[in-house]
Amino acid sequence: MAKHHLILILILSVALSALAATPARAADGVAPVPGPIVRGFDPPDQDWSAGHRGVDLLADPGTVVVAALPGTVRFAGSVAGRPVVVIDHGTTRTTYEPVATTRTVGEPVAAGDSIGALQSGHGCAGGACLHLGWLRGDRYLDPVGLFADTGGIRLLPADAEAAVRDLLARRTATGSGVLAAPVPGRIGSGFGMRLHPIFHTWRMHSGVDIGAACGTPIRAAAAGVVVAHSFDSASGNRLGIDHGVIGGQHLITYYLHARGYSVTIGTRVQAGEVVGSVGSTGWSTGCHLHFSVWANGALVDPQRYL
Ligand SMILES: [Zn+2]
Ligand SMILES: [Zn+2]
Repeated sequence: MAKHHLILILILSVALSALAATPARAADGVAPVPGPIVRGFDPPDQDWSAGHRGVDLLADPGTVVVAALPGTVRFAGSVAGRPVVVIDHGTTRTTYEPVATTRTVGEPVAAGDSIGALQSGHGCAGGACLHLGWLRGDRYLDPVGLFADTGGIRLLPADAEAAVRDLLARRTATGSGVLAAPVPGRIGSGFGMRLHPIFHTWRMHSGVDIGAACGTPIRAAAAGVVVAHSFDSASGNRLGIDHGVIGGQHLITYYLHARGYSVTIGTRVQAGEVVGSVGSTGWSTGCHLHFSVWANGALVDPQRYL
């Protein structure tokens, strides 16, 4: 009897210590959208510095987003203009954005339950991206740990490339010649997955890089109205022109890394009109123009429109 008890206690204590040693991992995690991870977890060294506090999963806008783990909806609303859903799992919580949700705070959800529809806007080419975060208290965890035991989620780069190609293939272009090249020159780096020249990680390249000397005039790819004029550490100087609907598609073009622009928000420009000059501002290794095109709310390969 006593011997049996001893064995039982031994088994129990081994099981308990195994449980205690288990890291933040949930074998029953469900991928919130079927797409692959196109941007990995890259937590910042400091709270205030740049980084990526989650992973980005590629999918079409409108894709149903499901809860990764069972829990309770803790937040469903807008954070700095982005629609965010937060699900509480007890010791951890998962965050989903941008997601338009029909859920309300306090609602229980099972893993795999629909929590809303994916919106575009999280800066991810080829489709839309779901930004998935995982936190314990204030500490960000790598969401890959949610699925590590299931193999239910796939990583870069081969699968992501295939998924991007698949998404692009399903999208029909208006055909070439709709837009004019904003600067003359050779395309050095195309649209799609590439090994980033500065970060040396696989990332989605959201447009094409056209080699041009510093100061080369940048011309509007088509007539339109300037809708974006900003600066950030990644894009450097960034200009956006809304061309309205051309050939059945609503087109917006972006011109990055410029030395500066001669137009501002609200300026109406003609096709071929000079809007600025080539520079190397932001994350750039030399003078060039990064040119990207949105068609009906999705990033597309600019070369199919030139
Ligand atoms: Zn993200
Ligand atoms: Zn670029």
